[in-house]
Amino acid sequence: KAQPLEHDGEEVAERLGVRLTSPNRVVFPGQGITKADLVAYYEAVAEVMLPHIADRPLSLVRCPQGRAKYCFFQKHDTGGFPEEIKSTTITEKDGEQQDYFYVDDLAGLIAGTQMNTLEWHIWGSRRQTVETPDRLVFDLDPDEGLGFDTVISAAEEIAARLTDMKLKSYPMVSGGKGIHIIVPLKPEVEWPEVKEFCKTFAQNLAEDEPDRFTANMSKAKRKGRLFLDYLRNERGSTAISPWSARSRETAPVAVPVSWDEVKTLKAANLFSLDAAAARAKSENPWPDYFKIKQSLKGKLG
Ligand code: ATP
Ligand code: MN
Ligand code: MN
Repeated sequence: KAQPLEHDGEEVAERLGVRLTSPNRVVFPGQGITKADLVAYYEAVAEVMLPHIADRPLSLVRCPQGRAKYCFFQKHDTGGFPEEIKSTTITEKDGEQQDYFYVDDLAGLIAGTQMNTLEWHIWGSRRQTVETPDRLVFDLDPDEGLGFDTVISAAEEIAARLTDMKLKSYPMVSGGKGIHIIVPLKPEVEWPEVKEFCKTFAQNLAEDEPDRFTANMSKAKRKGRLFLDYLRNERGSTAISPWSARSRETAPVAVPVSWDEVKTLKAANLFSLDAAAARAKSENPWPDYFKIKQSLKGKLG
């Protein structure tokens, strides 16, 4: 097996003092990727991934017996997790207090991998400002059979409409079938208004271009169309974190790309762990992502 990752995962875990059991257990059987390989991958991307994932409530996709077996989403800290995965208490809509996971360093990513986390899903807000999202995500879901060129032009259309509203957006291939269009925000506006903004945006698009888009989740309405899933922008909803691996057949990664690059892509799942790790070291597809300051203030209703 090729060993392109810079460091050995077992050594990385040891250096950081994070307990790693069964480092040689295969988690992606199709590729022979082990738990230690995944640790090495997160070490390679931590510098670029942590600014996206740190301090956000998480939903983890855990696969205790590897990708091909039973996997489940876990949102709440029910105990038994390593201390490197931290916990933050959030008051739910019904007033109940719930503990959510978060991480803010590489040790946290390794500890999550130790717990067989194959996907890291993030809230749109951070624990310190949990009621005011600092990113929107438009999750573009093509109906079966639509070509990727259709997904690309749809993503460009969404970006153009956002640009018209003076909102800069950034594309990410999901590692699955679609593209996520992400809008960084100053955390100023609260969830209900943010959701309303996204809903109106999606409905306007579907109304203007009913042959291409739907904002309706129902499978029937999706027929031959792209579903613009705006419901990721709701308090408690998640989207896959930039640079997270996906628990899918080919072990792909959700990877930030540039708008120029998007045009050249053939599918959303073509970045392997090695390709993503190499990219993390060599280029920054979103150079101003954390620099630009934009807000939905003055753009609502
Ligand atoms: P694709 O490009 O193939 O659509 P995706 O990651 O966008 O990949 P979706 O099915 O569109 O997959 O889901 C979008 C997001 O919604 C996911 O990244 C995840 O964060 C969240 N999600 C989907 N299903 C669940 C679930 N059962 N429980 C919790 N969150 C979910
Ligand atoms: Mn999607
Ligand atoms: Mn979706």
